Amino acid sequence: MDIHEHQTKELLRSYQVPVPEGRVADAEASAGIIAEQIGGERWVVKAQIHAGGRGKGGGVKVANSIDEVRQHADHIIGSHLVTPQTGAEGKLVQRVLVEAAQDIKQEFYLGLVIDRTRQRITVIASASGGMDIETVASTDPDQVIREAIDPAIGLPEFLCRKIAARIGLTGALMPQAVKIMRALYRCFRDKKALMAEINPLAIVGDGRLMALDAKMSFDGNAVHNYPEITAYRDFDEEDPKEVEASGHGLNYIALDGSVGCIVNGAGLAMATMDAISFHQGRPANFLDVGGGASPEKIANAFRIVLKDPNVKVILLNIFAGINRCDWVATGVVQAMKQQDIVEPVIVRLSGTNFAAGQKILAESGLPFITAVDLDDAARKAVEALA
Ligand code: GDP
Ligand code: MN
Repeated sequence: MDIHEHQTKELLRSYQVPVPEGRVADAEASAGIIAEQIGGERWVVKAQIHAGGRGKGGGVKVANSIDEVRQHADHIIGSHLVTPQTGAEGKLVQRVLVEAAQDIKQEFYLGLVIDRTRQRITVIASASGGMDIETVASTDPDQVIREAIDPAIGLPEFLCRKIAARIGLTGALMPQAVKIMRALYRCFRDKKALMAEINPLAIVGDGRLMALDAKMSFDGNAVHNYPEITAYRDFDEEDPKEVEASGHGLNYIALDGSVGCIVNGAGLAMATMDAISFHQGRPANFLDVGGGASPEKIANAFRIVLKDPNVKVILLNIFAGINRCDWVATGVVQAMKQQDIVEPVIVRLSGTNFAAGQKILAESGLPFITAVDLDDAARKAVEALA
C-alpha cells in the first residue's frame, strides 16, 4: 500500500526527521491560506499523487507570492499530471502540499528497501540525489551505496557514520545524517514498511539536513494491524474495480489483456494466466474467487470482470475441492441470465460434484464453451478472441 508524500512526511516528522513546514490543500483558496499561515517569502506547491517524477511533469512549482501559490494550486488541482511514472493518461491530482520553500545547497538520496535475495532491509544512499535512483544506478553504479542491515543488530551508529561518510556527509552534517537514518529505519521496522525513500535529502540554507521529498509503501497484508497507516489509504489512487472486488471478498488485480479470468485459488489463477500467455493470449486480470465461492460471489466476479471494456472473452476455471461444481455452475448460469453477457464464456470445471455441475450448465441452454482441462480452456479462450 502506497501513501502520499504529505502523509509520509507527517509520519517521519513524528520520528523527528526534519521536514519543511507545510500542509495539504484541495483548493486554490485553502492553498493560499496555508501559505499565509506558514509565512515567509517562497513556497513550493506539490501535486499529491502516488507516482514519482512529479518535478519533471510540472507537478512541483516554486511560488514567490501568495498569488502565485494560488495560481499554481489552481493549475495543478484537477489536472491530469503526466510524469515518467504515470503512463500517458496521467493521474488526476486532487490535492497539493503547500510548503515553505527551502534554499537547496546539495541533494542526496536515502532509501530503505527489502533485499529479498539477502533477506535483509538494505540502506541505499547516494550523493547523486534529486534524480531517478534507477538511472544513477545504471549509468553510474559506483554512485550508489548499499548496506544490508543485520536484523539482530539493527542499524547501529557506526554503520550510519560509514554510509554518511561515503556519500560525503561529514563534519557537522554527520550526526544529523545518523539521526535521520536511524529514525527512518525505526519507522520502517515499526510500521512494516516495504520501501522508504527520501529524495532529495537536502542540505538547505542554514546548513541543516532536511527531507524535501519522501515516499513510503507498506505491506498490504500487514497494514490492518496499523490503523494509523490504514487511515492513509487513498481509494482515489486505486482501480475502482479492485476496491469493489475487495469489498466482495474477491482478490482482483486489473491487467491489460483481453481474456477475463475467474478462477479459484491464487495458484490456479497464476497457472491459468500462464496457460493463456502460452497460447498467445493476454489475461485482462487476475481474479481469485477463493475457496467457498457462492453463486453470489461468482455473479459478482462476472460483474467486476465485465466492467473492464478490454475483456472480449471470459475464462472460468474452477477446481472444486472445498467448492462444489454445482454451486459454481448455478452462479455462472445466474450471472449469464442476469447480466446479459454477450462475450463467449469458456467454462472448465473439475472436482466435487462435477457431473451435477455439467448437468446444470447443459440444461441451462446457454451457449457455454466447455473445456476438459486447463490447457484446453486457455486454447479455446484465445480461439474465441479471433
Ligand atoms: P519528484 O519529482 O516527484 O521526486 O518530487 P520532489 O519533491 O523530489 O521535487 C522535485 C525537485 O523539486 C527536487 O529534486 C528539488 O530540486 C525541487 N524542490 C523540491 N522542494 C524544493 C524546495 O523547497 N525548494 C526548491 N528550490 N526546490 C525544491
Ligand atoms: Mn523526489
